Amino acid sequence: MRVGSGYDIHRLVPGRKLILGSVELDYPLGLLGHSDADVLTHSLCDALLGAIGLGDIGEHYPDTDPTWKDVSSLVLLADVVKKMKDTGFELINCDLTVLAQRPKISPYKAEIREKIARTLGVSIDRVNLKASTTEGLGCVGREEAIAAMSTVLVKRC
Ligand code: MG
Repeated sequence: MRVGSGYDIHRLVPGRKLILGSVELDYPLGLLGHSDADVLTHSLCDALLGAIGLGDIGEHYPDTDPTWKDVSSLVLLADVVKKMKDTGFELINCDLTVLAQRPKISPYKAEIREKIARTLGVSIDRVNLKASTTEGLGCVGREEAIAAMSTVLVKRC
């Protein structure tokens, strides 16, 4: 078995959609980035790449490559899942945390878990999603950014 961890943070700006786990949240600000800036999916991709020893998301999907401009991060996640299977690993579980002062994540949790579980090819009970504010502290607390952390456990097939 192997463990992996991932972290990502993106800036909140006007004029962008807010996408977390490929679900669009109803909020006046969105995350800035080259792709859809789905901070949650990015942290999960990094955790999976870490667990299988394949570096990080920036090495595989560089933001200088027009292929990944505005692409859904689930496309990246699906490709990471393929890499995981190609290297002979399967996912046991993942534990995901969104750090956001606003908006509330709870109304979207079930849909986010379902979309991620479907892309990972696992049952929904293997995808846990937590949400936390930072109690008003730091850039997340000032509602300037949203961050996400992911932990995964994989095993050899
Ligand atoms: Mg990112």
